[in-house]
Amino acid sequence: MTGPTIAAVDAFALRIPFDHWAPPPQFAGRARTTLDTVLIRVTTDDGLVGWGEAYGSFWSAVTAAIDEWVAPLALGQRVDDAGLPERIERTLHNLGRTGPTVHAISGLDIALWDLRGKRAGVPVAELLGGRRRDRVPVYASLLQYYGEADRLRFAIDRALGAGFSQIKLHERTVAAVEAARAAAGPDVPIMVDTNCAWRPDEAAAPVAAMAQSNILWIEEPIWPPENFSALADLRHATGVPTAIGENAGNALDFEKMRAAACVDFVQPSAIKIGGLTPLWRICTEAEDAGLTCVPHSPFFGPGYLATIHVLAAKKRPSALERFYCDLACDPCGRFVPIEGGHVAVPTAPGLGGDPDLELITRFLA
Ligand SMILES: [Mg+2]
Repeated sequence: MTGPTIAAVDAFALRIPFDHWAPPPQFAGRARTTLDTVLIRVTTDDGLVGWGEAYGSFWSAVTAAIDEWVAPLALGQRVDDAGLPERIERTLHNLGRTGPTVHAISGLDIALWDLRGKRAGVPVAELLGGRRRDRVPVYASLLQYYGEADRLRFAIDRALGAGFSQIKLHERTVAAVEAARAAAGPDVPIMVDTNCAWRPDEAAAPVAAMAQSNILWIEEPIWPPENFSALADLRHATGVPTAIGENAGNALDFEKMRAAACVDFVQPSAIKIGGLTPLWRICTEAEDAGLTCVPHSPFFGPGYLATIHVLAAKKRPSALERFYCDLACDPCGRFVPIEGGHVAVPTAPGLGGDPDLELITRFLA
């Protein structure tokens, strides 16, 4: 065996308080007071460290998946073994084809990309074929305001004042979208994410009404999100571009979406879909087929950095999703400050910078 091997895999579950200037929104049936994520540190036998990130809303399950299942299969394996995460996924497929196990593997995969970039002395974007742009625009992804026009107006004014040029709402009513359009003015692109608000026969009327406010896309309008034929029907009936993909289980789901002609903007998530490896494959295949990839990225660690490298290297320019709130701890924010509504693509080897261990330790779950 040649090359460095994986000597340790450590998981750090973080619970980060946030302020979105309103009472806590609901998430998964309870009030959300923290944004949770799992950072993964991979240490090699020659002492190099790489960082990854796994979707952490169910952080206790993800850390268990890492500690009990993923780490034992990763230890001793070669860092430059690009097929390792997929082999682990196959080995663990009985534990679930998505969810905490695959989220954990996503974090490992991202950390291995960080290590490969560091070892080669190049930013990850170079490993993806090279950057096509040095900076990417960022859109303000508002949290939920439940149609409260004053709060929507406050958040939109604040975002536009800070230089953001695009807004995404997490709202479900026509009135909320109208209020947002009134606040933003006629020219700011507005996207609407409904988080699977409607059954298929309920969606057409509200989506057509929202289209009167000139929305760029409607995101996850249909429950369940994998009902691609219903989404295709909605897209055809309303003419409104659709966005979907953050809840997809694997890369094959995106092929099925394309076959169903149900989507304009695909949204694979680095920290849910298996890591940067499948994210890049999905992105490339989708854009080669004429779609636009706008990765899901309402998170703040190495997965966020990985997403920036994808946006820098991919064929079509598109904006980075930034959850719009103040964070008590922004693990990687200092490497990619938002200035004038853009982030500069990191130039340091790897993803662009390691989370500050002393800082994140204060927010451990
Ligand atoms: Mg979404």
